[in-house]
This record gives sequence, C-alpha cells and structure tokens, in this order.
Amino acid sequence: MDLAGVEKDIERVIVTEDQLQAKIIELAARVDKDYEGKDLLLIGVLKGAVMAMADISRALQRHVEMDWMAVSSYGSGTKSSGVVRILKDLDRDITGRNVLIVEDIVDSGLTLSWLKANLESRGVGSVEILSILRKPDAAKVKVDVKYVGFEIPPDFVVGYGLDFDEKYRNLPFIAVLAKHMYS
Ligand code: IMP
Ligand code: MG
Repeated sequence: MDLAGVEKDIERVIVTEDQLQAKIIELAARVDKDYEGKDLLLIGVLKGAVMAMADISRALQRHVEMDWMAVSSYGSGTKSSGVVRILKDLDRDITGRNVLIVEDIVDSGLTLSWLKANLESRGVGSVEILSILRKPDAAKVKVDVKYVGFEIPPDFVVGYGLDFDEKYRNLPFIAVLAKHMYS
C-alpha cells in the first residue's frame, strides 16, 4: 500500500522505500562476506520479519536455508514485557548450524535476548542477529545485534512488516504512527 492510503494515520515517514532497499543491499553484502565458505541458516521471527527476510535472502549471493519462529512477548498495546512464549518452533534441528536471526526491530531487546539464549541452548555453531531497526534509547537489556539497519527514535513505528493491531505491515516504508491512533 502507498502513502496515500495511510496519510491520516501516520505522523511522518522515517525510512523511505529507497533507503530500505539500499540498506538491504549493504547488509546482505556484509553477511555474504562474513559467512563466506560457511553454512548459513536464516531464522525469521514471525510475523514482523517477513519483509526483511524476503528482501535480505534475495539480496544474498549464496545459498541459504530459511526457517521461522513465532514468539509472543506478553504485553499490552505498544509495550513488550519480556515474558516470551513460543507459538511456532523451528521445523528442523539446528545443532552445529550458523544461525542468523532476522528481525524487524529491537526495542527493549527483551524478546531477542530471550530468543538468542533459547537458540544457543540448542547447541548451535553460532547465533548472530540482524535487525532492520533499533531503538537505542529504549534498550532495557544489552543485546548484541551484529547487523543493524537504522537507529531510530523511541517512537512507535509501522510498516515493512511492523504492525499496529495487525495492520500496516504491507507499507513499503517505515513511518511513525500518529498518536491519535492509539491514545
Ligand atoms: P522488544 O522485546 O521490546 O525488543 O520488542 C519486541 C517486539 O515488539 C518486536 O519484535 C516488534 O514485533 C514489537 N515492537 C517493538 N517496537 C515496535 C514498534 O515501534 N512498532 C511495531 N512493533 C514494535
Ligand atoms: Mg517482531
């Protein structure tokens, strides 16, 4: 969906479609280089990472496997709590694999630090994180994100996989949701 369809719902666009696509190419080039000669399994976190996974995987100039997890961090409205529940687990065993978690956003970092520890406990070869966005001001726990697309302010954003009440995921850009939409 284009900007015209959501103009009343958003405050401003903070990352354009062009900026996103340029960043994807840049991140994919780094991943290609870092994993040269190694196996690579991308693990996408449903549902927010769907767009990032589709774009990153196609920008990589190598074979990759993809798997998906769905987790829910209990919390209400626009805040996450850090209590995580697995809604869908991986299809395959990941023992010895080089895993790259693909995420839409690191906010408090609670979800990702839990997920990283969970995957590490399964005897993986390595686990790194790629996230399109990071809100540095909001970091409650220190989580090491190797590949970050954009550092953004601690506003609630939508688009490119990120939702509010399951909507706006299909915007090709990232925008700050207007306050009147949720307060
Ligand atoms: P965290 O545990 O606080 O790092 O964030 C967990 C999840 O909350 C993310 O993976 C997103 O799905 C969601 N989230 C955090 N910030 C935003 C936002 O600004 N817009 C939409 N979803 C968000
Ligand atoms: Mg998410």
